[in-house]
Amino acid sequence: MGCRGSDSWSALLRVVAAKDADASGSSPVHLRPDPGHRMPGRGAWLHPRPECFELAVRRKAFGRALRLQAAVDVSAVARHLGVQHP
Ligand SMILES: [Zn+2]
Repeated sequence: MGCRGSDSWSALLRVVAAKDADASGSSPVHLRPDPGHRMPGRGAWLHPRPECFELAVRRKAFGRALRLQAAVDVSAVARHLGVQHP
């Protein structure tokens, strides 16, 4: 995902949707970092680097990878990576 670089999954950060992906509503789906790869559900994977994160956000890759219809809120993932994100 993101930069499409190849890497072992153990080197990647897993990101999951905090609430059920098929929940309808106007509020965005909050994404959470899952560095321990333990949270249930569908995950999106990216390199734990700011540039990879920004690329994924620009490409709306999280919504695609997690099959989300709603908008996503990536602020928790941004904080985890130490990225300034509006
Ligand atoms: Zn990457």
